[in-house]
Amino acid sequence: MGVRDVWKGFGAKASEPVRVPDAEAIATKVAAIKVSDRDRLQMLDSFEQSNIAWFWATDAQNRLTYLSPAALAQFALERDVIGEPLAKVFKTVSEEQVETETKPISYIVSSRSSFSEQTVQLLDEKTAEGGGKWWQLTGRPQFDNKKEFLGYRGIAKDITDSYEEQLQASRLVEFDSLTGLANRHRMKRRLDASLNAYKIEKRSCALIMLDLDRFKQVNDTLGHPAGDELLRQVAARLQSIAPGGAEIGRLGGDEFQLIVPDLDDRGKLGEIANRLIQMISQPYSVEGSRAIIGTSVGIAVAPYDGIEAHELVKAADLALYAAKGGGRGQFRFYSNDLKETAEDRREIEEDLRDAIQAGELEVHYQPQVQTKDHQLRGFEALVRWNHPEHGAISPGVFVPIAEDSNLIDELGAMVLKQACKDAAEWPGDLTVSVNVSARQFLNENLSKVVERALDESGLNPSQLELEITETVFMGDMGTTEAMFASLKKLGVRLALDDFGTGFSSMSYLSKAPFDKIKIDQSFVRGCTDTGHSNHAIITAIASLASALGMTTTAEGVEAMDELAVISALDIDLIQGFIFSRAVPQDEVLAKLVGGDFHYEAVGPAKHRAKRRTVYRRIGVVHEDHHYVAMLRDLSRTGAKIEGLLEVPIGTELVLDLGEGQLVVGKVRRSQDATQGLEFETPLVSDGAGGLCTRHRVSPYMLAAAGMPLQALPKGHHLAAAAVNGANGPTSRPRFMQVEVTMGSSRAS
Ligand code: C2E
Ligand code: MG
Ligand code: MG
Repeated sequence: MGVRDVWKGFGAKASEPVRVPDAEAIATKVAAIKVSDRDRLQMLDSFEQSNIAWFWATDAQNRLTYLSPAALAQFALERDVIGEPLAKVFKTVSEEQVETETKPISYIVSSRSSFSEQTVQLLDEKTAEGGGKWWQLTGRPQFDNKKEFLGYRGIAKDITDSYEEQLQASRLVEFDSLTGLANRHRMKRRLDASLNAYKIEKRSCALIMLDLDRFKQVNDTLGHPAGDELLRQVAARLQSIAPGGAEIGRLGGDEFQLIVPDLDDRGKLGEIANRLIQMISQPYSVEGSRAIIGTSVGIAVAPYDGIEAHELVKAADLALYAAKGGGRGQFRFYSNDLKETAEDRREIEEDLRDAIQAGELEVHYQPQVQTKDHQLRGFEALVRWNHPEHGAISPGVFVPIAEDSNLIDELGAMVLKQACKDAAEWPGDLTVSVNVSARQFLNENLSKVVERALDESGLNPSQLELEITETVFMGDMGTTEAMFASLKKLGVRLALDDFGTGFSSMSYLSKAPFDKIKIDQSFVRGCTDTGHSNHAIITAIASLASALGMTTTAEGVEAMDELAVISALDIDLIQGFIFSRAVPQDEVLAKLVGGDFHYEAVGPAKHRAKRRTVYRRIGVVHEDHHYVAMLRDLSRTGAKIEGLLEVPIGTELVLDLGEGQLVVGKVRRSQDATQGLEFETPLVSDGAGGLCTRHRVSPYMLAAAGMPLQALPKGHHLAAAAVNGANGPTSRPRFMQVEVTMGSSRAS
């Protein structure tokens, strides 16, 4: 077979030409002009050689029987494609959705009908993988006069250049060029598509949002190229730890997202979140510098927390926001309460702005006493805010908000000024320690602010100590060292606060000119248990500090046994509730004016871990009855409830903890209206120091019971709806319900 046979297939039926723009035009012209067969052939030959398009043909089994010589040259030298089935030569790809395969070519030709402009990729014979060439095929089936199928004849065009351009463009549209991860656009599309499909298939889907902590600091101090490199490394780590089947994307900046299909077990999700946090928090080496960042994680699960993509994204965002607000390096599951928390936070931010302006913030002072004789050495200044409506708000809550909303410089300057002014009124050479957050430390103005506070108050610089946390080392060492130097030049003292909670690199200690190390209260807690590593750690820190010529302070000493342990170690100072909480300036003055510099240790014999006593209303389901009870105590493995009279031991109850959380438990103890239950499946951490169930009642199931398909609403009515169904209870209740109050219980 030769070129003329192929061409006949077209030429014979020029009245209904196959759509091949260039060829079509030519064919029409060719047909119109009365030329000799010889001229025609010459024209076809030159058309074929022009490479505008090539000819191809197959036999009745759709094996390739002809391909223009120039087209054959596009295959590997040793490859003879003539005689091969089309499916071994070409792989189809869809035109709109690049890189996705459509119906295979064998399927297309099996229909024995015309097709046009089908994009195909040339297959590499050895690997059966697509090579780097893309063609467009147009074909027309050939039949003999008995309507027997003879094969195809058609035209092929090389579209590699334009197709690659299109590929590149679509990659830009779909993928993040920095990290290679899916971009926001693609993630949104994937989430929309997944959720739409899952709604029908009744599948679940977890959405995990990550936001890097302290990334901005690294970016600001080490520079953007280093920031970019760091993001690439984060992406690589994410890819190595993400669960199989997850789609990972970078939404922009330092925000990442994971879509994990078919995962709604909050125990497993919590484990994944913890692993993500741990892996991302390992140190990075970027452009010769060491950088440490962290991450906060927010998790929402469809269909429980949202049915539609926008709902789920909002839920995951709120969870992430809560995780960040909760002190960073944490994860949070979405819960309906978070909506309120987010509103509270916005409100706090607005009120805080006004409060600073109006001078509503106060500074209180907590004594730091000598371990050996409990004599006063100085005070730590702690900012206090008594909100007109909400009452006292902890600095642990509003300081991070101030940091995020650029109020920290103003707040910090206020505290510095006030603390220096107050300390100047104290007798002797008592010191005042002022907390400086890492954000403040990054502001070059800090030393000027300190200098002004000293000047205005007349306080001796050696009486002022600045407490700094390890997070200041996250940034560029050069800038950090320059700030240390300029502060030291002023003559103030520097303390490393919360030592042991961050990255605790001992190397920081030798690099920075600290006068003091404050051992975090988490180490004091538990140091009394023999065999607990905290004791050994405190001992090690104390000896290291003394070797470096630094003073040590133990924070958070509350109980007598803790005091005894700390006193036996080589620790210079103690600060804790055992001596005093932070008190206002007039109380400080009242004590000092009397010449009393001694503090008495007053506290419990032993530190008792606070039991999580919960008082909240829950639902209880037994058989097909729904009761209301008060939750008195909750642990991973059981609960104490109050509200049902004389429930026999061994009874199986279902507790409805709200928001679709049902727990099956067996009554192990029972007295009057109080029962102790043991859970069938233990609860898991909710990331916020609380507990939650692994699984929740699925909105799909509620929808099947007649409720509208929607995310789990707030409240405890789910079990009632699910258990009672549309028809309501059928039998009489087995237990008498008693009215439960916060205090005791009375039969109603
Ligand atoms: P911090 O600097 O580690 O301050 C010590 C915290 O431990 C204070 O909490 C103090 O009240 C508490 N504490 C002291 N002794 C005990 C004890 O025996 N038991 C227990 N459970 N706690 C004890 P506070 O005042 O709530 O402050 C929390 C954190 O807020 C501070 O931790 C500090 O990081 C930050 N902060 C407070 N005031 C300021 C400020 O003026 N500026 C900045 N930037 N941060 C501040
Ligand atoms: Mg402090
Ligand atoms: Mg501290």
